[in-house]
Amino acid sequence: MKELVISRTSDKVMGAVVEDGKLVEVFSEDYESIAGNIYLGKIEKIISNLDGAFVNIGAGKNAFLRLREVTKGYLRNVLKADKLKEGMKILVQVKKDSTRMKGPQVTTRISLAGRYVVYFPVSYAKGISRRISSGEREKLLLFLSRIRKKGEGIVIRTAAEGVEEDHLEEELNGLRQEWHGILKKFRRSRKPKVLRTEPSIEGMVLRDRLEKDTKRLYTNDEELAKEARELSKVYKEPMEILVMDMDPFEKLGLYRQMEEITKRIVHLKSGGFIVIDTTEAMTVIDVNSASSTKGRSHRDLILRTNIEAAREIARQLRLRNIGGIVVIDFISMKDETDRKKVIEILKEEVRKDRSKVDILGFTRLELLEMTRKRTTRSVESFLLATCPVCGGRGKVIAPSVIFSKLELDIGKVSEAKEVRLRVHPVMSGYLNTDGIKKLERKYRRKIDVNFDWCDPESYDISYLVKGGEKK
Ligand SMILES: [Zn+2]
Repeated sequence: MKELVISRTSDKVMGAVVEDGKLVEVFSEDYESIAGNIYLGKIEKIISNLDGAFVNIGAGKNAFLRLREVTKGYLRNVLKADKLKEGMKILVQVKKDSTRMKGPQVTTRISLAGRYVVYFPVSYAKGISRRISSGEREKLLLFLSRIRKKGEGIVIRTAAEGVEEDHLEEELNGLRQEWHGILKKFRRSRKPKVLRTEPSIEGMVLRDRLEKDTKRLYTNDEELAKEARELSKVYKEPMEILVMDMDPFEKLGLYRQMEEITKRIVHLKSGGFIVIDTTEAMTVIDVNSASSTKGRSHRDLILRTNIEAAREIARQLRLRNIGGIVVIDFISMKDETDRKKVIEILKEEVRKDRSKVDILGFTRLELLEMTRKRTTRSVESFLLATCPVCGGRGKVIAPSVIFSKLELDIGKVSEAKEVRLRVHPVMSGYLNTDGIKKLERKYRRKIDVNFDWCDPESYDISYLVKGGEKK
């Protein structure tokens, strides 16, 4: 059962999708996504051997555009030019948000998303959401062929299932009009700027997540409830709307469920657990059975744990909004049929995912490889900050290394009578009573140590000489 939750508190708006009581997607205003926004940009530099161009979109780092995505039709109809040149203005849409390392990715394959259809004004596309039941597909295909004009593309979204065609056509015409407005603005302006922004969190949840099978909406926002009621009327069984007088995230225990997102280890009901490690290059997920059975457990138990893990992994990928390459190390399965079964379950589960997921199968090392396309940043990126101590490495310089450096410093100021140290508690092994005594004898000065320094990679040292202090 699918439910939506939208919470508006004095400091922010949050949205969530809950399936069978479990949090599967969470959206927060905390981080600003520009994915989907349309910009008037300026081509700063064309790098042919990279097949790309850097585009100034008037915000943040320059965006990257793949040249092969720029079609003749686009050049002719939008830019009224034969080819791209540096300094030229260009109409682009953000395909992927920037990361710590790279600027955003943009495309000229522009699309305008409505609730029921996605409209591609200058590129071909014709499709129906794979999550629409086969019964309705045929009807929608006919409809598509009837309304699509030459040169444009249309994709029917899942929310269109069970909606009268008049509504779909009305929305499409609205998007066509909007496109003409954007084009007009583009032609009239010169400087890089945004021409169309994606809706706010609450608008996005209602546009992209409210579908025929959505059973309920929990919110504490009356206005939004009204809007949602209106939108839900197109379905035979409109969703139930519950307006609460408190934060629905709190009431439904979603903040507690969100804490799980930042944990490396996720426990399974069977007693097993999965460990999720995300690096810049890929995500590695390790599946473990309950420790007591590891190594000599029966085929059945292994299969059951792997299946449970597959379901949980599919949920975690959505919940954490993990993108890129994902490698899963399931508990080793001897039987080919067992492996097939696990892949089947995983395939079934990722069907609920809106991001495109490709399951590539087991490698020779028995690792399951898959990819997940993501356009916005991971949820982790707005719940977690880089560790200020290790700078994101996950490791700090070993106390032995710090100690060698410290020892050199202790001996430095020859006239010092006393040395005062402030160190991190990790140094206590080197600076115990015996250690300190040894150093005092070696350098012939008094050493005073305080373990109140919070950085394990540095320390504070000051020297007391006769008649004053020296740092
Ligand atoms: Zn750290």
